[in-house]
Amino acid sequence: MDPKLIGDCVHCGFCLPSCPTYVLWGEEMDSPRGRIHLMKQHVEGTPLTPEMAGHFDACLGCMACVPACPSGVRYDRLIEQTRAEVERAHRRRPGDRMLRASVFQLLPYPRRLRALRLPLRLSAGLRRRLAPGLERISPSLAAMADLAPPVRARVRLPGRIAARGPRRATVGMLTGCVQGEFFPQVNAATARVLAMEGCDVVVPASQGCCGALSLHSGREEQAVRLARRTITAFERAGVDTIVVNAAGCGSTMKGYAEILGGAWADRARAIRTVDLAEYLVELGPVAERHPLPVVAAYHDACHLAHAQRVRSQPRALLTAIPGLELREIAESSICCGSAGTYNLFEPETARDLGDRKAERVLDTGAGLLVSANPGCTMQISAAIRRRGVAPIPVAHTAQVLDASLRGLAKVP
Ligand code: SF4
Ligand code: SF4
Repeated sequence: MDPKLIGDCVHCGFCLPSCPTYVLWGEEMDSPRGRIHLMKQHVEGTPLTPEMAGHFDACLGCMACVPACPSGVRYDRLIEQTRAEVERAHRRRPGDRMLRASVFQLLPYPRRLRALRLPLRLSAGLRRRLAPGLERISPSLAAMADLAPPVRARVRLPGRIAARGPRRATVGMLTGCVQGEFFPQVNAATARVLAMEGCDVVVPASQGCCGALSLHSGREEQAVRLARRTITAFERAGVDTIVVNAAGCGSTMKGYAEILGGAWADRARAIRTVDLAEYLVELGPVAERHPLPVVAAYHDACHLAHAQRVRSQPRALLTAIPGLELREIAESSICCGSAGTYNLFEPETARDLGDRKAERVLDTGAGLLVSANPGCTMQISAAIRRRGVAPIPVAHTAQVLDASLRGLAKVP
């Protein structure tokens, strides 16, 4: 933990109302300011106690406190460093260690995730029925059963998708681990939209997980390994821009240079990472938008809105679709509780935040929820299901645009 970054905090408390755990519990040590105070104590020599580790674990890493801070405190860097220190210095209970080890041997590896597809497909209804029983054994297992999305048919994207009409740009595309295996339709829509807007889209087969999930959980070594592999894959593909459609992946990749340092930082800086909505707004539209009569609510994924400050671009893309009415969700800056693997490791808090978000989404009366992060999509869908009301379809911005560009009557 960098004492200089810690010293930037002037304890003003402006960040407190933006922090979901402070909003829930009103506890100073579960606020950004309180956590920075604990970091200071630790760098000044106080050993890391289980209580301190608990306050750091309870942080969602949602980064809502970063734009809220008038002093520019880099809480994003601080919590990354702190999580790595927690992993080094704190001995978790055996059950927690086992759970974390299994999750990080599974989620960042698309081939291992692929092996899960069949059992997940066969057990969709059963999993939901088992969830209450699992809750008594392990809330984390119950959360996994509850969250897993319906398994869709695999979509294999070719290595290169040609621009429709005159080529305006060539971009690489990150397919991701969870996005690629559980939301292949989002990747397919992303590639089609980019191509319809005049981009050649390069999809390197050697890419995998970008390292975001590992980084956000303090597993530095794994994150660095996966980051280097991602950079190498796109270097070999010969692209200088990577378009990313998952908020958490985009924010991590934009920070590669800072995470990796040295020669790898230069290699990271040579390739620009850009969020899909950000890129499409910059590029400007050429494809015709066909009417799509739908009332949609847009959910701000934390790693898009707070970490990347991409708020206006998805809204601009959606409101440019004829017939689409966009509604805002109250408390849009408060995290839905997904936060990477948070909903697996801190399931009770995640559930409270998910329920709160589902209520705000339902209050909009929208018939479609738009979310640009696979974790948020799973989390909010599960929370809406728990309420026992008619489910609202959840789609990525790319899928909504794709439907409009292709002249479909609704988002598939
Ligand atoms: S993190 Fe920023 S907003 Fe929060 S107490 Fe410190 S200086 Fe103030
Ligand atoms: S990252 Fe989110 S949960 Fe953590 S201290 Fe900041 S606002 Fe609170």
